[in-house]
Amino acid sequence: MKRITTILFLLLASIYAQAFTLVIDPGHGGKDAGAIGKNSKEKDINLAVALAFGEMVKANFPDVKVIFTRKTDVFVELSERANIANKAKADLFVSIHTNSLPKGRISRGTETYTLGMHKAAENLEVAKRENSVITMESNYKTHYEGFDPSSSESYIIFEFMQDQNMEKSVMFAKNVQQEFAATAGRKNKGVFQAGFLVLRETSMPSALVELGYISTPDEERYLKSAAGQKALARSIYKGFKAYKNKL
Ligand SMILES: [Zn+2]
Repeated sequence: MKRITTILFLLLASIYAQAFTLVIDPGHGGKDAGAIGKNSKEKDINLAVALAFGEMVKANFPDVKVIFTRKTDVFVELSERANIANKAKADLFVSIHTNSLPKGRISRGTETYTLGMHKAAENLEVAKRENSVITMESNYKTHYEGFDPSSSESYIIFEFMQDQNMEKSVMFAKNVQQEFAATAGRKNKGVFQAGFLVLRETSMPSALVELGYISTPDEERYLKSAAGQKALARSIYKGFKAYKNKL
């Protein structure tokens, strides 16, 4: 009897020990470079920051299971990224991206998005650009039920969408944005809502981080530097820590 009790205890302890699953999604990869700067690519920046963030979580939170949607330079479909999180019954999904603006336009700072209806034209622009990666997938028209990432009408569905995870997603997003300013000294552009497909397909609290503007020369220099990537990763980590402690 005593032995059974011990086994049961150990079993419960091991389940409890990995009670939280975090899925980290480095945006783009492989044939999809994402936004392109003068001498760097979004996919590489996203991956470096995502991996560093994950390592910090692993080192400090033995009770958190960390899963990456990609760990190398490979193409992963948007729906597959969400599938990985859904299958793992993740508690939090964090997608990491780098922003960009057309030639002649300059902006600086970090933004974190949660799923929802965009209220501003700029948010729609970011969502359109990030969602456009699905056109690189062979079956995207059937896969995403006719969703056209470049048509504004496609985004009307987001208006009628219920998101049960909104409160937690926004809480996480705010923590991350605060840390981007406090830890990395970046300009905090704020927390916004927009129609991101990858967030729509996940069924847990989720956020999409835009680390900065690859199209702005001084931001690109920072984004591609080892020190910059480490500071950005640390900011997301500290945001995660605050979020996890609040739960
Ligand atoms: Zn992106």
